[in-house]
Amino acid sequence: MVRRHIAGRGISDARVLDAMASVPREHFVRPGLSHRAYADGPLPIGEGQTISQPYVVAWMAEAAELGTEDRVLEVGTGSGYAAAVLGLIAAEVYTIERHAVLAEGARERLHRLGYGNVHVRYGDGTAGWNEHAPYDAIVVAAAGPDVPEALCDQLVAEGRLVMPLGRPWRGQSLVRLRRGPKGSFTREELGAVRFVPLVGQDELPLRNAPMRPPPASRPRPESR
Ligand code: SAM
Repeated sequence: MVRRHIAGRGISDARVLDAMASVPREHFVRPGLSHRAYADGPLPIGEGQTISQPYVVAWMAEAAELGTEDRVLEVGTGSGYAAAVLGLIAAEVYTIERHAVLAEGARERLHRLGYGNVHVRYGDGTAGWNEHAPYDAIVVAAAGPDVPEALCDQLVAEGRLVMPLGRPWRGQSLVRLRRGPKGSFTREELGAVRFVPLVGQDELPLRNAPMRPPPASRPRPESR
């Protein structure tokens, strides 16, 4: 899988490739689907959610430009697979999941497999995880119309935030925000993706929210 679907499609960060080769994806999928664990596709994990396509996990990890000393926040734990990958590259990973049953399953799985630097919390990730902020990198594994402001606030200067922006299931773009030394943000579009919706605090899918203007025309982030 790594040679063909990850390196073969352009991921070149050696630490990302090593982590992808090391995490046993068959432990993160449902038992009846383990024969498809190393196909390059998303799979259902319950609660209407999916474990992401391996290529996209690797792409987001590479885009986050992780260092070995970095503290990372992930929004959307799901199965815990991407958190395990991030945990092999960075120092500490804090990951939040809004479905209690998924959060509990991921916590138990990550503990059993020995990913001791990955910390799982049940809750709404759009508010971030302030107790452990600021983060060197934030990876959001669900799509919304805009980056939640709390996440921008919890990023260090020079930090990276990677998130799919756009309407649920269609027309989404993977975006990287980079926080400058004075708090302004630059934004890069990395390519087309398709993610499940990021669901906000009020339990309403953000799909019902109007599309906001891009960060350049908003007070935060301040510039592209
Ligand atoms: N990273 C996961 C993995 O490796 O299995 C896959 C993530 S799945 C594509 C997206 C996840 O984001 C779902 O489990 C969903 O419940 C979660 N999610 C959506 N909105 C959320 C929110 N506001 N806070 C936390 N999790 C959220």
